[in-house]
Amino acid sequence: MQDQGNRNTGGHGDGASPAQGPDASHADAGRPGAIVIVGAGQAGAQVAQSLRAGGYDGPLVLLGEEPHPPYQRPPLSKKHLAGEVETEGLHLKPAAFYAQNRIDCRFGVRVREIDRAAGAVVLETGARIAYATLVLATGTRPRALPLPGAELPGVVTLRTIADVEAIRARLRAANRIAIVGGGYIGLEVAAVARAMGHKVTVIEAQDRVMKRVVSPAVSAFFAGLHRDHEVDLRFDTGISGFLGKEALTGVALADGSELACDLALVAIGAQPNDDLAAACGLEVDDGILVDGSGRTSDPAIFAAGDCTRFLSARYGRSIRLESVQNAIDQAKAVAAAILGADEDYDPVPWFWSDQYAVKLQIAGLSDGHDTATTVGDPESGSFYVAYLREGRLIAVDSINHPRSHMMARRAIGKPFAEGLLPPA
Ligand SMILES: Cc1cc2nc3c(=O)[nH]c(=O)nc-3n(C[C@H](O)[C@H](O)[C@H](O)COP(=O)(O)OP(=O)(O)OC[C@H]3O[C@@H](n4cnc5c(N)ncnc54)[C@H](O)[C@@H]3O)c2cc1C
Repeated sequence: MQDQGNRNTGGHGDGASPAQGPDASHADAGRPGAIVIVGAGQAGAQVAQSLRAGGYDGPLVLLGEEPHPPYQRPPLSKKHLAGEVETEGLHLKPAAFYAQNRIDCRFGVRVREIDRAAGAVVLETGARIAYATLVLATGTRPRALPLPGAELPGVVTLRTIADVEAIRARLRAANRIAIVGGGYIGLEVAAVARAMGHKVTVIEAQDRVMKRVVSPAVSAFFAGLHRDHEVDLRFDTGISGFLGKEALTGVALADGSELACDLALVAIGAQPNDDLAAACGLEVDDGILVDGSGRTSDPAIFAAGDCTRFLSARYGRSIRLESVQNAIDQAKAVAAAILGADEDYDPVPWFWSDQYAVKLQIAGLSDGHDTATTVGDPESGSFYVAYLREGRLIAVDSINHPRSHMMARRAIGKPFAEGLLPPA
């Protein structure tokens, strides 16, 4: 799913220094003391920005596999897919920012190995870049569905700008779209595709949408919303393969029936890009294991963002988050630790999803709740659900109710009492 292009933006060439040691053409690369960041996404960019803002003046290298400068992913399944925000509008910073801050950017380059003994990363080309401190911000990739026909043109996933370009090109000719997975990405794409006038079927293995993250009341609201927009929702339904010879013509459902379609989006979750870390002997377990400062099992190597897993005292277990909030805040904690100010990162996670004119905002993590209370009338289109465990607020799902979301972000962890959250 990841882009292998080779265009540079805001940097100094493609960065492939020849064999061991410094590359004279790149002032910053390969010097002892360099901080090297692998992954030029939300977290990688934030680490670089926070290091400079925090006074780090030394060599700083940002390596990214995609050909783009760091960009926001949330619009990919929302306004960018709909054509309302173009590629440049996604960029987190203008190209000049990286040059002005002496961030040695190399985009379109993939790191294939970490040589911890030598303190160097090895690029796909075989070139090496030495580091004194390494930060892994490699994100996630879509989970694949290894079924017959999965390689057919017309079977797609959504993670990158390149994925959206491919989907948009297909949407111009496609009419019937099957979305495998009723999570937030699948549902956001369903909403955009309906607005474009396509026929949309969502196939969900569970008995309700977004089951992993929201309560039955919230699932029911969003199922109703999609049905009102004429999305065909199929629950408790698996798929056994993709149909077609040269291109996709349909999806085979597990019950033996077939669904005709000319585009199938597989949106069944993501898996962390922790392979590089695992291959060099760092501790991983569905994510790179880090402490509250983002430090891995090697003190010279940090990690931030979607690719990490850490122990949350707040939730009493290890968690791996996939959200902009986490990418930014954990990256800040990593930069602080590199600059000598360790902190204990243990956030109140928050997240949002836009579907049609409805904004879902989630504060906290609701799994493990013993009480879920719906406040307000779902029929009105504006309500929230508060989740408690042993009398304490652990999460709030807000549907077109921004005030409850903002209050929840401050109130999570507190004993529940009147006034902690707003009235309906
Ligand atoms: C379609 C979509 C919609 C989303 N919507 C929302 C939303 O509404 N709200 C929200 O909070 N979050 C949303 N998210 C999640 C959010 O975008 C991510 O949590 C965030 O981007 C994570 O940032 P990151 O830096 O950890 O990873 P990424 O942004 O994925 O960046 C990782 C980068 O590392 C690069 N990389 C990986 N391996 C290598 C390697 N070996 N060498 C070089 N480079 C490498 C990758 O190519 C990638 O560019 C959405 C995500 C997607 C895909």
